[in-house]
Amino acid sequence: MDIIQTDKQYVANTYARFPLQLVSGNGSLVYDETGKEYIDLGTGIAVNAFGVGDPEWKAAVVEQLDKIQHTSNLYYSAPCAMLAKALCEKTGMKKVFFSNSGAEANECAIKAARHYGQTRKGKEYYHIITLKNSFHGRTITTLAATGQDVFHTNFNPFPTGFAYATANDLSSVEKCFAENKACAVLMELVQGEGGVLPLDKDFVRGVEELCKKNNALLMIDEVQTGNGRTGELYAFQGYGISPDVVSTAKGLGGGLPIGATMLFERVENTLTAGSHGSTFGGNPIAAAGAVSIIERIDEEVLQGVRARSEYIVSELSGAEGIKSVSGLGLMLGVELERDVNEVLKDCFQMGVLPIKAKNKLRLLPALNIPMELLERAVAVIKAAAKGERI
Ligand code: PLP
Repeated sequence: MDIIQTDKQYVANTYARFPLQLVSGNGSLVYDETGKEYIDLGTGIAVNAFGVGDPEWKAAVVEQLDKIQHTSNLYYSAPCAMLAKALCEKTGMKKVFFSNSGAEANECAIKAARHYGQTRKGKEYYHIITLKNSFHGRTITTLAATGQDVFHTNFNPFPTGFAYATANDLSSVEKCFAENKACAVLMELVQGEGGVLPLDKDFVRGVEELCKKNNALLMIDEVQTGNGRTGELYAFQGYGISPDVVSTAKGLGGGLPIGATMLFERVENTLTAGSHGSTFGGNPIAAAGAVSIIERIDEEVLQGVRARSEYIVSELSGAEGIKSVSGLGLMLGVELERDVNEVLKDCFQMGVLPIKAKNKLRLLPALNIPMELLERAVAVIKAAAKGERI
């Protein structure tokens, strides 16, 4: 069967897929249906945290699969409780709500913020300040939170209650607070889909102060930046802030769908029985895999992320055909002189799979990608950036 043709005929047209079918992999190597090998720099958009078929994650998943695959949230289940405990102990957060995706993790954050605003401040305090150029998901409400018009076209009407400030411009956040009865700020610390742009530390700390001053929640979307990706377990830990809510997903599940919304003191009891829920959220298999991921992201792994990041940045910054390198840890954006699609095509032909963010190459390799593979991949990117083959 021609899988590409079958997909085009039967799968909804929501993805501009690369003309490539991935069928298997091992660590940071993946293979197409012809057996061609590629170095994976995308990890399924920051999902396969320790690569494909990571043995410890696989063992945890299979062990749970042999016990029970799903319980629903009507009953207690050990993986869900153990994962919440590990997340709270490693972050200082107090409670966790589990869902299945980043968008759902943000939906929970938005509900918690509105509930907080309306019960603590007044009925009209439901506005949430987000940033222009942000990305928070594809549901109607997380799209409304997303500060990019391109995602909004033809999906009106959106829920009201979102105001958009300019990243790295504190006066713009101040203005949003002055003009809206706000219950929270929601922002990414590195705008991923927006072009891999880290926020300035001073700005982020300034936003934290404004939240305190206005009795609003500071909510950090760590769907992409979380779980070791930026060289910290969660990026907020490197910014020296104490958020009220942190949402995450992607790498947490190591390849299975899971979303988590971590709640700090002010909101740990905001959502009560019946006010929020999910059939699959905290599914035992996904949660068992996630425990194996989160427990392994220790200082040694994080140092490895930082060392790999430094290597990539030092090799690519100033290289011929490369205008700039942005990002944090192993979440990097490479701005090119050539058209990004042409560079991607050349990388694919040379057996390397980066992805894209706007007009940049986006690099999201496994946290433990072997240095030897990284060196080969970087050499390919350097060649592709100047239109050469190796
Ligand atoms: N928030 C951020 C920062 C993201 O990068 C993404 C996905 O790319 C999402 C939310 C949405 O996550 P999901 O696709 O799992 O719903």
